[in-house]
Amino acid sequence: TQELHIVGGGMAGSEAAWQAAQMGVTVVLHEMRPDVGTFAHQTGLLGEMVCSNSFRSDDDEQNAVGLLHWEMRQAGGLIMRTADQHKLPAGGALAVDRDPFAQSVTDALMAHPNVRVEYGEITELPEDGHWIIATGPLTSSALGQAIAAETGAEALAFFDAIAPIVYFDSIDMSTAWMQSRYDKGETEEERTAYLNCPMDRDQYEAFIDALLSADKTEFHEGEATSSPDPTPYFDGCLPIEVMAERGRETLRFGPMKPVGLTNPHQPDVKPYAVVQLRRDNKLGTLYNIVGFQTKMKYGAQTDVFKRIPGLESASFARLGGIHRNTFLNSPTLLDAQMRLRSRPNVRFAGQITGVEGYVESAAMGLLAGRLAAGDILGQPVDVPPDCTATGALITHITGGAEAKTFQPMNVNFGLFPPVQGLKGGRRGRKDRYKAYTDRAKIAWKEWLGAAALDAA
Ligand code: FAD
Repeated sequence: TQELHIVGGGMAGSEAAWQAAQMGVTVVLHEMRPDVGTFAHQTGLLGEMVCSNSFRSDDDEQNAVGLLHWEMRQAGGLIMRTADQHKLPAGGALAVDRDPFAQSVTDALMAHPNVRVEYGEITELPEDGHWIIATGPLTSSALGQAIAAETGAEALAFFDAIAPIVYFDSIDMSTAWMQSRYDKGETEEERTAYLNCPMDRDQYEAFIDALLSADKTEFHEGEATSSPDPTPYFDGCLPIEVMAERGRETLRFGPMKPVGLTNPHQPDVKPYAVVQLRRDNKLGTLYNIVGFQTKMKYGAQTDVFKRIPGLESASFARLGGIHRNTFLNSPTLLDAQMRLRSRPNVRFAGQITGVEGYVESAAMGLLAGRLAAGDILGQPVDVPPDCTATGALITHITGGAEAKTFQPMNVNFGLFPPVQGLKGGRRGRKDRYKAYTDRAKIAWKEWLGAAALDAA
């Protein structure tokens, strides 16, 4: 029989190993800790949570993360089962006692008759056999270099510089307008690829003051220096608050330059500065604020960004950040089955595929484990439909996201195909989220049922 090799025993690798082993496949799980460490991990345990002890919202009716929890529980997921065993009181969030949690994940995998754990760093991309690489945001540098050699350095990032992402339907279009600078573009779609928010002089000055006084986060100790690049900030990726510190006019000559744009709401008034947003997914439900990567704290970000005319009531699909994070340009490198196009015996899973968060990483591990096991067993598994949370995420990273601006993504309802015919507003949003989760649950059960039938 053929073995499945999984590299990395974190959130994704542990879940992938469990799923494949439960399907009857022999798994070899390779983990470099404790021999080789990272700046964030503290133990040699599998499934270690590197920072917060929270799996975020557990609400499976109104929240996309909660829906991912539900989907993983339905699929017999190890990470969720163990999290439920070590749950701590935390309101609507699923927080866990981290050390017993990781110990239980380790024990469960060690005890599984189909799993063998081998300790040691993997430094090359494998030539043959079935593999899943789930080495996470802190992939060891030798393996990172091997991946870069295969994919091209351009297609592998070592830092993310995430600009905040806003739900389109929360933007005030009586203030903002769609237009690319100088109306550039061959097609109408390209000429309206950007959404513009104008500022007058007073608004701009107040915005700069807010940026300068906002609370910022620091890099973790070791985060900046353990990377292949000694300087955390590189070309075009300065945080906006650092740009503002370099001079009050820097942003007006950078990402906020007001040139090549005419405000149709006030054609005679030239804006003093313009904040541009760019469409972030093919569905057109998400827009990122161009050039606005930031290390401001989350609370400060919402305060500062809601000062932008047109974004006063914005809801954010994700806030900005800059972190050490090794991740692939998945839309160009991976096929719909999470295989490396240039080396289809290798799948990727977890944060390295360009999802963000413990829960999202575990979900991508769950899926990769099942897909790989299906291949080995000669019973190919389809990816779940994009109206499920797992399906929406995998569809986004392998095809729905814009490849040129690809940055790691949290699960959110903006990734789901819209549910038609529901009212807007606050009440409407609750109904809409419930409709998304109801639809997802039906589709997820069907998907699990189809996999079970194939295996029967
Ligand atoms: P990991 O859980 O990191 O697992 C990867 C595993 O691969 C590790 O065990 C590592 O030792 C091993 N490995 C790496 N290279 C090799 C190799 N060459 N050979 C063998 N093994 C190897 N997400 C949240 O939801 N909440 C947070 O609070 C949070 N905080 C974070 C803080 C930091 C500093 C970082 C870097 C990330 C954080 N994340 C957080 C994001 C992310 O969700 C987690 O890092 C998550 O653990 C990713 O899961 P993963 O399985 O992809 O990677």
